[in-house]
Amino acid sequence: MNNIRSHFYRKRYLASLFLLFCYFAFCFIDGEGSAKPRLSPQSTPSKLICKAFYSPFNDSDRKSFTSITHRLVGTYGEYRKSYKPGHLHAGIDLEGSFGETVFAIGRGHVHLIFRDFPHLTVIVKHQLPDGEPLFSVYTHVEQVKVNVGDWVDERSSLARLFNEDELSRANFGTPNHLHFEIRKSIADEGRASYASMTTDELNKFCMDPMEFFQVFLEE
Ligand SMILES: [Zn+2]
Repeated sequence: MNNIRSHFYRKRYLASLFLLFCYFAFCFIDGEGSAKPRLSPQSTPSKLICKAFYSPFNDSDRKSFTSITHRLVGTYGEYRKSYKPGHLHAGIDLEGSFGETVFAIGRGHVHLIFRDFPHLTVIVKHQLPDGEPLFSVYTHVEQVKVNVGDWVDERSSLARLFNEDELSRANFGTPNHLHFEIRKSIADEGRASYASMTTDELNKFCMDPMEFFQVFLEE
């Protein structure tokens, strides 16, 4: 009787081992060598999707489009003579006080940090509800508080604006500001930000952040 029982348990143990093996084999084949499930727009967990966007500054109402317009000192697509003379401005310039904290505009992860004073840049990648990626770009900042790969949301401070000394060293001849871009793609590796000579070239990678805020802030 004991022999029959131990034979039965042994068979059940071997069957469990076999099923476990099949499970891991399936994971590895399906995940191209990784047991992690692959993400596609259809299967993106809702917690990864950015459903709401906010002002990058800690204004009393971060969903107010008017508070953004009050800070606007440089518009999208305007003529610029720095770098490649005649290129079109790829973002907007938002005035801020010395050392003011800059926040992420919504849920996403830190995709890239470009450290080159006075153009230090943090890029956050977001996932829209329709599955499309979107990048928010924060330039002319210092003291970055995040690392590449960090998950952030609208409560996450990314960095701060220049202090008085940094602004004078930058020698912009403009008010202290955040250069802010919304990008559909960064496949140009940043070139569109300083070398777009026509609106078509600019719009291939970027969009007007004021139009973006108008749609996404007060909806
Ligand atoms: Zn700018």
